[in-house]
Parts: sequence; structure tokens; C-alpha cells
Amino acid sequence: MAQFDLIVIGAGPGGYVCAIRAAQLGLKVAVVEGRETLGGTCLNVGCIPSKALLHATHSLHEAEHNFAKMGLNVAAPTVDWSKMQAYKADVVGGNTKGIEFLFKKNKVTWLKGWASIPAQGQVKVGEEVHEAKAIVIATGSEAASLPGVPVDEKVIVTSTGALSLDAPPKSMIVIGAGVIGLEMGSVYARLGAQVTVVEYLDAITPGMDGEIAKSFQKLLTRQGLKFVLGAAVQGAEVIGPGAKVSYKLRKDDSVHAIEADVVLVATGRRPYTAGLGLEALGVEMLPRGQVKTDDHYRTTLPGLYAIGDAITGPMLAHKAEDEGIAVAEIIAGKVGHVNYDVIPGVVYTTPELASVGKTEEQLKEEGRAYKVGKFSFMGNARAKAVFQGDGMVKMIVDAATDRVLGCHIIGPAAGDMIHEICVAMEFGASAEDVARTCHAHPTYSEAVREAALACGDGAIHS
Ligand code: FAD
Repeated sequence: MAQFDLIVIGAGPGGYVCAIRAAQLGLKVAVVEGRETLGGTCLNVGCIPSKALLHATHSLHEAEHNFAKMGLNVAAPTVDWSKMQAYKADVVGGNTKGIEFLFKKNKVTWLKGWASIPAQGQVKVGEEVHEAKAIVIATGSEAASLPGVPVDEKVIVTSTGALSLDAPPKSMIVIGAGVIGLEMGSVYARLGAQVTVVEYLDAITPGMDGEIAKSFQKLLTRQGLKFVLGAAVQGAEVIGPGAKVSYKLRKDDSVHAIEADVVLVATGRRPYTAGLGLEALGVEMLPRGQVKTDDHYRTTLPGLYAIGDAITGPMLAHKAEDEGIAVAEIIAGKVGHVNYDVIPGVVYTTPELASVGKTEEQLKEEGRAYKVGKFSFMGNARAKAVFQGDGMVKMIVDAATDRVLGCHIIGPAAGDMIHEICVAMEFGASAEDVARTCHAHPTYSEAVREAALACGDGAIHS
């Protein structure tokens, strides 16, 4: 029986980052991972393969639509799907191998197999039982299912199937207009599929600022995506080589059916803790399946912690990573902390959508007085030079103090630009602080500064 200071269950972004930080702080650490490769959902079937396909298909779009405008005359590009899949696999492989290297470098032991917790302080992998002073559950999540929509990962698929289709479909129905649905929908729309997104709510990207969501929908519509909003999916079935989805419009209860080659179910994810034996140990769970934790990531069983998609909060890789670092520091006797008010969210379409902090809707509900500063990328020279004048920066600040409360960006590299605002918010900065900071010209980031100026006396270039 091997003994460790810490055993982490799950090697996704929460688990592997937690293990590395704990090892750096001097603990003897093991990670149990049942998959063949490290990196969890994010590296294997999530963030990374989806970004590889988004990059490849964005490049295709550039070649088809923008090359000639710049005097670049090339033959019409064609798609070699199996090569694109191989490129995606290479990107994934490079990253998962990178985690193996980091484990070796930091002397983290990888226990291969599926773990259960037979008793307090024990982790069983295969026939072996290991002991640990602390155990962290970082087992992540799985795609949520939808009643009446049977997934076969060939015709009716989750995101995992959608990343590895046999061939790009000619038509696709995406159920759910959240991040994953819109990213994968964009990939296949760029590859020529007629994509219809069916969403229960009346807006896309639920939870995002309403004005931003509306203009994002307009831009995606211009790219060829169709949206059916306010539609409750009743069921789906495979018919012939494709599938049929029926839905009821919430406004008038009318029932409709549409058909496509492939149906992607992207209605969210649910925590995955199957097989750990938590019920037998009496570990308290929340009604939606998450492990219940306090603000130090402690579960109701002493010495057992949980982080990432398996607990409450946004299901995002960077949220899991930050919790991994925080819980490692707590277990090592230091002070770990995550600021849940400043967690950015990004949709990696073109243009990108990035958001942090409060939306207008949230502030109205809180009854807090605020000011808004907006700037369109049409006034940003760099964005226009690369055909990305669509979109805007919307900054929201406290009406009395000018303190930045939130920022929402649709535009080129929005997912990178948002971090300027994250840092500003962490430091309690005002819009004036951002506006008085010199921004290099010509950069997309100048649009952030202009939005900050618009919170005060006015932007220069609008
Ligand atoms: P996971 O990454 O799910 O890892 C958990 C690991 O635990 C898995 O490898 C699993 O095999 C292992 N495990 C489970 N049970 C056991 C057991 N009993 N024994 C041993 N091992 C076990 N987030 C972003 O921030 N940005 C993005 O761009 C993004 N894109 C995404 C795209 C897609 C298509 C999907 C599906 C998700 C995306 N996400 C993205 C979400 C992100 O992947 C998750 O939030 C993140 O992976 C959660 O990390 P985690 O460490 O909690 O769990």
C-alpha cells in the first residue's frame, strides 16, 4: 500500500494543475486518471480539439473570402477531412504529452486506472489501495442528455462525436445555443453545412449581456447560421442516413420538425462522479449532482476535497485550474483563493465573444446605478485592416465611482483582450484608469481604451 500526502482523482485542468502546484509546495502527490492520456475533457475532447478545428476552418474562410481582396491569388482551397482530423489529433497529442512531461518534472505519480474511495483517506485503483492524507475529487463532467434524444455518437452526437465525425455533414441541427453549440456550429458552417441552432430560451449565449447576445446572433446569422429561438425540443430520431428533430415553439405551442444529416446535442454538461463510492461514504451532494463543498473546497468528509466541473460554478477549464491551485495551497497549509467575480468567459468563434463581470441585466436586477461606454470596431484601424470591423467593446462602470463592473467584447482576439479588464477589475480600477493607460497603436486593444473613454467625456474615434 503506497502512501501519499495527496491523491488527486482526475487529470483534467483542475486535477493536473492541483497536482503540480501541490508537488511544487513539497507534497508527495499521485494523480489517478482512467483515460489513456492526461488532460481530461479539456485537452482530449473539449477546449483544445475544438480550437484546432476552429483554427483550421477559420483559415479556410480567410482563403475563400479574404485572400483575393488582399491580392493573394491561390487555387480554390479544398478540404482533406482526414488530414484535418490528423492535425487535430497532433495538437491534442502534443498537449497531453506535455502534461506527462510536467508530471515527471514535478515528480507527480500517475496511477493509471479508475479510482474509487473505499474509506476515508483511501483510494482504490484496480486491486490496489493507496493511502493519502488528503484526496481531491477532480472528476469533471459529461455531456448532459436530453429526454427523447438518443445519442449514438454517429448521427445524433454530443460534442465528443461532433469533433470526430466521419465526414463534414451537409446539414446540421444544433440543440442549444451555448458556447459549445455555437463553436461546433461555426466549424461545420464554415465547412459548408447548413446549420440550424434550436434554443429553448429567447436569446443565444444564455447569461451573457442581452445587447451583446443580440448583436452576436446577427453576426452569426450573416455567416449563414439559422436560429430557432424559444423552441422546446420534443425529441429526435434517426431516419435514413440523417435525423429528424421535433420542437414546440413556446410562443404558440405549434409543433415543427426539421431534418439534417447530423444532430448535435449541446444542452450543457453535468458533473461526473460515478463509481467513486461517494454515496456509501455519506458525502453530501447538491440536487444537480455536484459534490457539496465549503469555500475551502472541503466536502462533508474530512480530508476529502472537490474542485472543477464536479462542483458548483461555471464549467470552464480556467475556473477548474484556479481552484486546483487554491486547493493545493490550502492543503499545503497556505492561503488559496479564487475570485469568482472575475472569471472571463469566451466563445472562440470569429469574431470572438468575451465577457467578464456584470451584465446590464444583472445590474438592473441589483438596482445598482451604472454607466455604459461603447466603442465599435469600425473605428479601430487595425480591425478594419483585417476585415474584422464587426463587433464592439461594451464597458459597464459604477455610476458614482467609475469603478469597472464588467466588460463584454465582440471582436478580433476578444478572448485575449478581456484580460486587460480582468486585471483592472482585480485592482479595483476605474474606467478613467483604463482610459489614461497608454495603448499601443494600431492594436485591437485601443477599442477597449476607447470604450473606457466613452464611459467619461467620450471616445475619440467614434
Ligand atoms: P475534466 O477536464 O472533465 O477532467 C476530469 C478527468 O477525470 C477526466 O479525464 C476523467 O477521465 C477523469 N476521471 C473521472 N472519474 C474518474 C475516476 N473515478 N478515476 C480516474 N479518473 C477519473 N472550457 C474552457 O474554459 N474553454 C474552452 O474553450 C472550452 N471548450 C470546451 C469545448 C468542449 C467541446 C467541451 C466539451 C468543453 C469545453 N470546455 C471549455 C469546458 C472544459 O473542458 C471543462 O470545464 C474542464 O475540462 C473541466 O476540468 P476538470 O478538471 O474539472 O474536469
